[in-house]
Amino acid sequence: MSNVVDSKLRQVWTEVLSDIKSSIGDDAFKTWITKLDIISIDDGSLKIAAPSNFIRDNVLARYSDMIIKTVNSYGCSVRSIGIDVYDNNNVTINENHDNNDAQKIKDCNDISILDKRFTFKNFVVGKPNEFAYAAALRVAESESPSFNPLFLYGGVGLGKTHLMHAIAWYIHHNYPNKRVIYISAEKFMYLFIKSLRFKNAMSFKEMFRAVDVLMIDDVQFIGGKDTTQEEFFHTFNELVDNNRQIILSADKSPSDLDGVEDRLKSRLGWGLVADIHPTTYELRLGILQSKVKQFRVSIPDKVLEFLAVKITSNIRELEGALNRIVAHSTLVGRSITLDVAHEVLKDILRSNERLVTIDIIQKKVCEYYGVKLSDLNSSRRHKAVATARQIAMYLCKNLTTKSLPEIGKSFGGKDHSTVIHSVKKVKELVDTDRTFCADLEILTKSLEN
Ligand code: ADP
Ligand code: MG
Repeated sequence: MSNVVDSKLRQVWTEVLSDIKSSIGDDAFKTWITKLDIISIDDGSLKIAAPSNFIRDNVLARYSDMIIKTVNSYGCSVRSIGIDVYDNNNVTINENHDNNDAQKIKDCNDISILDKRFTFKNFVVGKPNEFAYAAALRVAESESPSFNPLFLYGGVGLGKTHLMHAIAWYIHHNYPNKRVIYISAEKFMYLFIKSLRFKNAMSFKEMFRAVDVLMIDDVQFIGGKDTTQEEFFHTFNELVDNNRQIILSADKSPSDLDGVEDRLKSRLGWGLVADIHPTTYELRLGILQSKVKQFRVSIPDKVLEFLAVKITSNIRELEGALNRIVAHSTLVGRSITLDVAHEVLKDILRSNERLVTIDIIQKKVCEYYGVKLSDLNSSRRHKAVATARQIAMYLCKNLTTKSLPEIGKSFGGKDHSTVIHSVKKVKELVDTDRTFCADLEILTKSLEN
């Protein structure tokens, strides 16, 4: 199958998964469906890959009708499903309740659980994530541990897992002899508790102590689980003492983690703590442009700009929106216009709807800079007023869907070229003036909440 067909099929599959998730709920989806992958549709037969026999059998028994129906609702004509099992040695999945996990992890090819798309090359760098990116790259490149641990934190869907996988891929390609384990904190706890139950806690310890690089994703899940924390703490100390690299991610900084002992919190912050900030309009647009290139489809800039303005929650959702538009247009064969985007994304747009208006932006900016609204809307060129006006215009352009002439008009009847000039000026200042950049970030955040 060519790449083009592949990526189209994948878009359809993404849609199908999201539909199934809505109808069966998060828990069932997580247990049965989320790890399935589409392989092909050929002559009325849909081929899927599942991570274990257990999942395959259950999916066939419970969900095959639903999957066929949903796939067909996207214009396919599938009559049967075949499921291949792609991996029985996966760290993240193990339904056979044997006590052989340590051996499994030792034997496993860790690469199988990494997402192929999550590489440094595919990571779009912008102001909000440049520090985390640089830190991740440095850790990946270093022959021996550089910052230990590297602690990446930030909100949902902002690229933490992507960066961790990117580190693992990098090491896989450049240091093939290094042993890397990437595991979710949930799985870490699960394996630990299981090892206690089967009284083979020793081998649990050994399997983690035999690695060069240990990555644990979403460590906020360790909060409150005392014995696991204790074990984690010991494993952690031993690995660091033995000069092994540890990389952790969480949705909060070490000191803000709930239910985590103080000594562990402080230990987690010893290396390098790098946070990923909420996205900016520029980063969102950059990511969309890069994905469009990967898909090899053509989407008007206007539509991408529209998505970057409207979908601000996180990058996962932004990608989802783009996938949906592309899937829709490939299947229906319509070219992608703003109207199509509006129609296809109705529900996503509604949940991302912000009530930011030009009035609110002007009011916030005036408060922030201690400037009067009448001055903002006048032609005064006093520096503080001019800066506030430029920032306000920039925010109106990025956070509302008002056109440039409309924005100009709301600032005491100015011309659209004044707005363009302001936006340009703000972009320049963001690159050269740190204080200005921080002001802009604070204002944006306060408006987006
Ligand atoms: P998190 O682990 O922080 O919740 P993920 O790493 O799973 O988020 O990212 C969510 C989605 O957004 C993934 O598909 C990822 O590839 C994509 N993504 C996040 N940041 C970037 C980026 N800077 N460039 C390209 N894609 C990104
Ligand atoms: Mg993640």
